[in-house]
Amino acid sequence: MKYISTRGDQIERGFSDILLEGLAPDGGLYLPKTYPKVEAATLTRWRGLAYADLAFEILSLYIDDIPADDLRAITRRVYTAEVFGTEQITPLTWLGEGIALEGLSNGPTLAFKDMAMQLLGALFEYELGRRGETLNILGATSGDTGSAAEYAMRGKKGVRVFMLSPEGRMSPFQQAQMFSLQDANIHNIAVKGVFDDAQDIVKAVSNDLAFKREHRIGTVNSINWARLLAQVVYYFAGYFQATKSNDQKVSFTVPSGNFGNVCAGHVARQMGLPIARLVVATNENDVLDEFFRTGNYRPRGTADTHETSSPSMDISKASNFERFVFDLLGRDGARVKQLFTAPNFELSAGEHADIAGFGFSSGRSTHADRVATIRRCHAEHGIVIDPHTADGLKVALEKHEPGTTMLVLETALPAKFAATIHEALGIEPPRPAGLEGIENLPKRVKVMPADVEQVKAYIHAHVGHAA
Ligand SMILES: *Cc1c(COP(=O)(O)O)cnc(C)c1O
Repeated sequence: MKYISTRGDQIERGFSDILLEGLAPDGGLYLPKTYPKVEAATLTRWRGLAYADLAFEILSLYIDDIPADDLRAITRRVYTAEVFGTEQITPLTWLGEGIALEGLSNGPTLAFKDMAMQLLGALFEYELGRRGETLNILGATSGDTGSAAEYAMRGKKGVRVFMLSPEGRMSPFQQAQMFSLQDANIHNIAVKGVFDDAQDIVKAVSNDLAFKREHRIGTVNSINWARLLAQVVYYFAGYFQATKSNDQKVSFTVPSGNFGNVCAGHVARQMGLPIARLVVATNENDVLDEFFRTGNYRPRGTADTHETSSPSMDISKASNFERFVFDLLGRDGARVKQLFTAPNFELSAGEHADIAGFGFSSGRSTHADRVATIRRCHAEHGIVIDPHTADGLKVALEKHEPGTTMLVLETALPAKFAATIHEALGIEPPRPAGLEGIENLPKRVKVMPADVEQVKAYIHAHVGHAA
């Protein structure tokens, strides 16, 4: 399988190359040249597979530059009950007739990003080892991404992580998760500032091409195709658990921010998985809901991006969204380039009408909705859900069609967001075994002013000199 850019440059790259790259050289995102189609007989064969072997089957349709035996060994090492808590890896919890949560948050950091990041860690170690190279991952996080990256890369050969976070702004649990890691290849840097300050430093370092090359700086951000591909697997796994045969259709509601999670659902649907609807659920930061309703894409500025109680969905522009628009516009790279180099855009009426054919719809949820939904789910089913999943469930209940099973992707466990659970239910959220008291563990974090040169000096001191 070769990969092309959404902005139309005539480049074709292999999987292993784009694995370690960010954007395509023309500023676009990588996508496979075609989506492999999965026939009914293949779906039937896959139905009985363990998650790791299902992952292997799907990945091998997109990866032809890693030997099959190696790839299978990687998926079997990553997707284990030991790491993800159950044999199903992404188990369903039914909330009455025709609606269920698909649990994606039972990995080490209690959020769905582990599903992809754990695979990415194994693929990075494999590919860097094969090339005899090393990589220094630099990122900024407000919570879930940074911890997922650190838990995926800890102890991996050839990889170091430098993760910037805004000092004192993550939840106490999130800080404890990241800062308690004692692995030598993990570096936590808390900058005195807000998330955007941390993000600006990462951008400034990445724009210094000489520094970037000399220090072999890479990223693990959500535009990485391998992350998206890993997420395709749980749409199949959820479908197989929810149905008895392939003539049934299932819908998914996806709490969304950067459009990575639901874009994986789009890929699964393009491959032929019988998905009726893909429902995009946003919080008050509703740039995606607005787009699906109106065809207007209006990324917000920082000042117009609200801080909400589902913080992992507080985005101003959805970095994976360009992938879907590329498919929507018949893969017209020139048109995509025109749209995404403008500050905002409006689809033509005809283009907007085409969205229906891709199964998408959308809805929006507010703080009051989250609190009410957490209460309702607890009262009716005795289950505590996290605020992001509550955004999803709120919208799913509005969009649920009788006769079509709706799966709501559970994107985090409530233990990560105790304050909102306390507000809704007056209780402390349950915490998975082994995580009691992590706030009291010794912390390993370097506090620094929000200053690019000091961050560069720190990186330089810890990676040594150019190879
Ligand atoms: C990252 C995240 C999301 C948003 O996912 P996208 O792929 O960015 O759309 C939703 N919920 C939680 C808990 C997350 O960590």
